[in-house]
Amino acid sequence: MGLKKCYRIGSRSDFDQFRLTSVRKKTTGFFCKLKKNPTNISPRLALIVGKKIGKAHERNYIKRLFREIFRRERERLDPKWDYLVVVQRGIVPNFYDLKKKFLTMCALFPKSFLCIAIDGTAASGKSSTAQALAQKYHLLNVNTGNHYRALTLSFLQRGLKNTDEKSIGEVVGELVFDTRINGVEEQLTINGAVFQPNDLRSEIVNKNVALFAQLPIVRQKLRAYQRSLLPRAKQFDFAGIVMEGRDIGTHVLPQADVKIFLNADPDVRENRRRDAGEKDIIAQRDQLDGPYKNNAFTIDTTHCAREQVLALIEEKIVNQTPFRKS
Ligand code: C5P
Repeated sequence: MGLKKCYRIGSRSDFDQFRLTSVRKKTTGFFCKLKKNPTNISPRLALIVGKKIGKAHERNYIKRLFREIFRRERERLDPKWDYLVVVQRGIVPNFYDLKKKFLTMCALFPKSFLCIAIDGTAASGKSSTAQALAQKYHLLNVNTGNHYRALTLSFLQRGLKNTDEKSIGEVVGELVFDTRINGVEEQLTINGAVFQPNDLRSEIVNKNVALFAQLPIVRQKLRAYQRSLLPRAKQFDFAGIVMEGRDIGTHVLPQADVKIFLNADPDVRENRRRDAGEKDIIAQRDQLDGPYKNNAFTIDTTHCAREQVLALIEEKIVNQTPFRKS
């Protein structure tokens, strides 16, 4: 049957890209290297069997074995990667032995890590969407609006206004940020203090948060903290990270696998906040926060149930990442 051409790598430039990746796993008879797969749809195989390996018919037989292993096991491999196999002297051309070694090596490579950026306007459904995704795929859930809210509260507690830029700069430099992880939820602590949801979503914070969020020093500090959560999520063995906010796909995680932008009609969003018992002047925040420039996949949630939004995002995930529907 053979391995289809589209699953093979033959071009010189594709081979050359493997040189850029230093990680290789070795076993007797061959070694493997991985590189990012630009198609993201299906893994591809690159095979090198040098002239020193044996006679032409022996080399061809080894090539057929690896192509057959790859053909049969392709579905199990991570489509985010292309796989290079370099055959070395001492190889024993036994199908089952090579298959076991090849799959074991693939499992040893760093596991793929899913990175989702959800940006959008206030009350567009970012938080509930991110929470649901985090639970389902065991992703670290980061609500960056809460970071801006926590910092705003810290400034207000110190009697600072958004116009006190010099003092804000000094205070920001002294504050110690740390992370608490509660289930799949990330929480920012400032100088050891944890902030209660009711305080973060109080009227005074709703009124001031977008004003403080305009300040470059505030954004710089929070973006650096937010980027630091990516290695943190890997360290804590999450399968990925879902981060929601206003600038995630554009500034914080521009490398995200999936970028989403949520929006809804302003009056629907106002109603959502009112139904949640919150006093929030959404129109004013919209004006300060926007307009948004992004290349994300946009979903209008005005008439969309949460399940529909999730289904659309999951379709993107399945198409663009190693998560396949089982
Ligand atoms: O998402 P949420 O409505 O809780 O965000 C509160 C405010 O924080 C936003 O109105 C915006 O001013 C600011 N923010 C931001 N960048 C982010 C997240 C929130 O400027 N990534």
